[in-house]
Amino acid sequence: MLSPYKNNWVCGEMVAMEDCLFCKIVNHVLPAKLVVENDEVIAFEDINPQAPTHILVVPRKHIGTLNDVTAEDRSLLGGVVLAAIEIANDRRISSSGYRLVWNTNRGAGQSVFHIHVHLLGGRNMAWPPG
Ligand code: 5GP
Ligand code: ZN
Repeated sequence: MLSPYKNNWVCGEMVAMEDCLFCKIVNHVLPAKLVVENDEVIAFEDINPQAPTHILVVPRKHIGTLNDVTAEDRSLLGGVVLAAIEIANDRRISSSGYRLVWNTNRGAGQSVFHIHVHLLGGRNMAWPPG
């Protein structure tokens, strides 16, 4: 039997897939403002935007953190990044600039334990990030 906890036990964080917020959005159990959807990726507007463009690009596959990624996810991660680049082009922020952010674990600000990349743009950004 498949464990609902597969890929979710990382540094004290354990989220059953049936309780995962982004799995619910991926499966249309919870609503979101969808931007892109394909076989491997879904992208939607962040509910608490930190920039004029703030979109989350999420693999359909449940992976808790980047620490759980394996070699078999190589192509999937490429698909996530390519989707983010395409959305940046569509939103016309490619030239002005945008940032892709993967928060990994609590200390880096991760709050939803299903990997996702933040696409942020439409304003000037400071470095280093806070
Ligand atoms: P993290 O903190 O894990 O890097 O990013 C999680 C992001 O998910 C946050 O920017 C947060 O605003 C966003 N978020 C949390 N709950 C929801 C939700 O129910 N819907 C949407 N669209 N975004 C959410
Ligand atoms: Zn999930």
